[in-house]
Amino acid sequence: MTADYEITIGLEIHCELKTKSKIFCSCPNTFGGEPNTHCCPVCSGFPGVLPVLNKTAVEYTVKAGLALGCDISRYSKWDRKNYFYPDLPKAWQTSQYDLPLCRGGGVAFKGADGEDKFVRLNRIHLEEDAGKLIHEGGVTRVDYNRCGVPLMEIVTEPDLHSPEDAVAFLTELKNILKYTGVSDVKMQEGSLRCDVNLSVARKGGPLGTRTETKNLNSFRSVLRSCKYEAERQIELLESGGEVVQETRRWDDAAGEGSGMRGKENAHDYRYFPEPDLMPVVMSDEDIERIRATIPALKQQRIDKYTAEYNLSDYDAALITADVAIADLFDGTVAEGANPKKAANFIMGDVMRLAKEPGSEDVNIKITPAQLSAMLSLVEQGVVSLVAVQKEIFPKVWGTDADPAAVVDKLGLRQSNDTAEIEAAVKEIMAANEKVVNDYRSGNTKVVSFFVGQVMKATKGKANPKVVNEVLSRLLKG
Ligand code: ADP
Ligand code: MG
Ligand code: ZN
Repeated sequence: MTADYEITIGLEIHCELKTKSKIFCSCPNTFGGEPNTHCCPVCSGFPGVLPVLNKTAVEYTVKAGLALGCDISRYSKWDRKNYFYPDLPKAWQTSQYDLPLCRGGGVAFKGADGEDKFVRLNRIHLEEDAGKLIHEGGVTRVDYNRCGVPLMEIVTEPDLHSPEDAVAFLTELKNILKYTGVSDVKMQEGSLRCDVNLSVARKGGPLGTRTETKNLNSFRSVLRSCKYEAERQIELLESGGEVVQETRRWDDAAGEGSGMRGKENAHDYRYFPEPDLMPVVMSDEDIERIRATIPALKQQRIDKYTAEYNLSDYDAALITADVAIADLFDGTVAEGANPKKAANFIMGDVMRLAKEPGSEDVNIKITPAQLSAMLSLVEQGVVSLVAVQKEIFPKVWGTDADPAAVVDKLGLRQSNDTAEIEAAVKEIMAANEKVVNDYRSGNTKVVSFFVGQVMKATKGKANPKVVNEVLSRLLKG
C-alpha cells in the first residue's frame, strides 16, 4: 500500500548567525544567559525606537548563499510580517518577503540509498529571531534574549522523497554551513531548526496537499516526524479521507504529531515594506569581497588530502565530516606533522574524546601545535606512541600544557642510551644463562622474555628499537 505512494518533502531551515551583536541593535548575540538580560528597547519592541542593520548579518547570509551556489540579489529589501504571539513583542517580525538576499542554488549529497542527489534551493532570506516561551509549573514565562538574533531562513524546493534523504540532505547542508563559519549550527541549542513540509501522492499523480510540521530540533525528530506524517497521510487517503493543509507540531517524547492550527497564507500576515530600514544594495565588488572570505569547503579539502597527502577516500571523508576536525588536521600538518600519522591519530584518539555523547557535534580541546608536538616526540624517539596515546594525550586534552613538559613531569622520556641498555641486557643475560642457551640453540622466540625483562629493569623507558638491536647483537654471542 505504502509502495503505491510517493512522499514529497520540502524543508524550511532556520539558522542563527554567529554575529557578535543582534541584527537591529547592539545587544550581545550569545546563547543562554539569565532570562531577559540581553535586551534593550529595540529588541524588546518599545514604541518609537529605530532599528540599525548589522551589516555582518547580511554578509554572513551572502557568504552562505555563495557557498550554496545561490544568485545574490543586487537589491533586496525588508518587510514586516505581522502576527501576534507573546514571543514577539513588536507584533511583527522584520523579515524579507518578495526580494530576499539569495535565490536559487542547491545542495548535492549522497542519498540514503547511495545515489547522488541534488536538492534545489528556492531562496535564502534574513530575518530576526523571536523570544523563547518557557512553560513550567503551570505558568508560561517569556525570555526575550533570543529576540533579534539574526536568523537566516533557507527554503528548499520540494525535491526530497524520503525521510532518510531529508536527514542526509540536512547533514550535508549543516556541514556546508559549519564550514563557512557563519553559524554554530547546533541543533540542541536551537541555532539550527527545521520545518518539514510533507505531502503524499499516488505515484505519477500530481503533488498532494501538504502539512507543515514546525520547529524540529534534531535529525532524529526530523526522521521520526516525517515517517509518522507520511504514514498518517497515507492511512487517511486509504480510508477515503482528505489531507487538510495545516500547521502541525511534533511531540518527540510521545513520538507523535498533532494539528496546531489551519495553515496561514502570505496574506494572513499582511506583509508590507519595512519603513524604518533602507533596502540592501550589493555591488559586484561587495559580492567578490565576501566570496574571498569563504574557506576551502569539504570537497576541496577531500581532493587535497587524497591527491597531496595520499589519504584514502574513506579517511579523507572522515576527517572532513566536521570542519573542526578538518581545521585541526590542516593546522597540525602546517606545524610540520606527517599527514598520515596526524590523520591516524585524529581519527582514532582525538575523535574518541571529541565526540560529545548524545550529540551530532564534536568538541576539539587540543591545538594543532600541541598535537604536532606530541607526534614529533614520537618521531624523535623521545616517547613511544603508546605512551602518547595512554598517558600524554589525555593529560594535554583540554589544557594548554606543553606535551614535552608533560613527558618530563610523568618521567616518560624514553632512554636511547645504548650503554645503559647494554649494561641492563648483560646483567639479565648473566642471571638467566639457561634461557640464553635456549636462544643460542635455536629457540629465538625467547627474545620476548628478554625484551620484557629489559623493559622492567628500565621501568619501561628503554626505547624498544634500541633494546631489540642490543639484544640481537649480544644474544648471538
Ligand atoms: P509558504 O509560503 O506557504 O510557506 P512555499 O511555497 O514557500 O509556501 O513552500 C514552503 C515549503 O513547502 C517549501 O520548502 C516547499 O518546497 C514545500 N512544498 C511546497 N509544496 C509542497 C508539497 N506539495 N509537498 C511537500 N512540500 C511542499
Ligand atoms: Mg513558509
Ligand atoms: Zn537589543
